[in-house]
Amino acid sequence: MRIFKFGGASVKDAAGIKNVHSVLQQVGYEDVLLVVSAMGKTTNALELVIKNYFEKSKELNASIQEIKKYHNQILLDLFEDDKNAVFTAVNKHFLDLEYFLSSNKSPNYNFVYDQVVSMGEIISTTILSHYFNHVGIKNHWVDVRNFIKTDNTYRDAIVDWDTTQKTISKNIKRKVLNITQGFLGSDENNFTTTLGREGSDYTAAIFAYCLNAESVTIWKDVPGVLNADPRYFENTTLLNQISYREAIELAFYGASVIHPKTLQPLQSKEIPLYVKSFLNPLLPGTSIAKGSHLEPETSCFIVKKNQLLLSLSSIDFSFIMEENISEIFALFHKYKIKVSLIQNTAISFSVCIEDKFGNFGELKNILAKKFKIFYNENVSLYTIRHFTDKAISMVEKDKTVLVKQMSRETMQIVTQE
Ligand code: ADP
Ligand code: ASP
Ligand code: MG
Repeated sequence: MRIFKFGGASVKDAAGIKNVHSVLQQVGYEDVLLVVSAMGKTTNALELVIKNYFEKSKELNASIQEIKKYHNQILLDLFEDDKNAVFTAVNKHFLDLEYFLSSNKSPNYNFVYDQVVSMGEIISTTILSHYFNHVGIKNHWVDVRNFIKTDNTYRDAIVDWDTTQKTISKNIKRKVLNITQGFLGSDENNFTTTLGREGSDYTAAIFAYCLNAESVTIWKDVPGVLNADPRYFENTTLLNQISYREAIELAFYGASVIHPKTLQPLQSKEIPLYVKSFLNPLLPGTSIAKGSHLEPETSCFIVKKNQLLLSLSSIDFSFIMEENISEIFALFHKYKIKVSLIQNTAISFSVCIEDKFGNFGELKNILAKKFKIFYNENVSLYTIRHFTDKAISMVEKDKTVLVKQMSRETMQIVTQE
């Protein structure tokens, strides 16, 4: 079986969905499982609904209507007949969402987040499944929440591999086209969970692992994995082949073309990962497989924006040592702060961090009781794999360098622009 993942960009409008159909016709769709994300920026739009709900904003209803309008337009563009069953099916999902919001009693933000944000994928796959049936491609709509079981860490759920493996290998139909949702799972009580933003690539890897798939292809709006993000760098080059190891490094440092959790399950079963363009499906793109010889011949650049550079120093000039550091890290873990770079001197300790869940304010107050705190907001973290002097000076040009750190293959530079 082959696993294909289509992200938000590939299904952002009716033309995108028709293009997915065209991709399938070119590359085949028998014995395929499609993992599909929410359409376009729907997840962000649902995040706004959740914010409005918790703030009791009068914009709540308007923010839901906006999402309805967007999907309805896609339906009208795809189906000539507005009596098609898809209109009722999609409408039912919106009714479920509205019912949930009106009846929910839980004050748990992360729980509510997952119940609401999951609608994006449920709706997108409903539309795709109906559309493919409509154009003559028979398929099975699979509710991923019956297959990927997780703990109840809402918004960042951990997969229960044993149960997931058993359920998937036993119940997913082979030799047909299956369509399922990326990003979602469910907990012991069957409440919806999510695997972390951009987590649909990871979903594809979970299915591949559990089904011993032949390969995974993630279809993107770029020709494959490039040596830098084309949104921030000019003259990028395509990496034709890279090793799992190199791909893990690139994803870990923030090359957002592949979600960092995707590689490990694939690598452990040596399932190849292809990153290809959904606009040119027959081009080879990038292939990621086993082999230490698959090192890129060019420097690779990764940039993470909106980072925080936090420096802590002791109030009484005592050293920041193992005991303090372990305490600080326990707090980072507790508040789900992602640390991307660490540097310490005798009495000070600096980290470049990302506050994905908006917890820094609370953490800062706790740290301030024990340490002197300095921080720079909105810094950028550049990582250069296989760096050269030329690559470094290109990154540093016109920027203030705050921290610089080098290891054998990797240079990291924190800048304020
Ligand atoms: P999806 O539609 O699957 O969610 P993403 O937007 O998450 O797709 O990923 C594709 C985007 O990743 C590209 O449009 C590009 O801007 C970005 N990107 C970041 N780093 C790289 C890289 N090294 N190579 C290719 N694309 C990259
Ligand atoms: N829809 C989710 C998100 O935007 C998951 C994904 O697209 O990978 O984060
Ligand atoms: Mg994405």
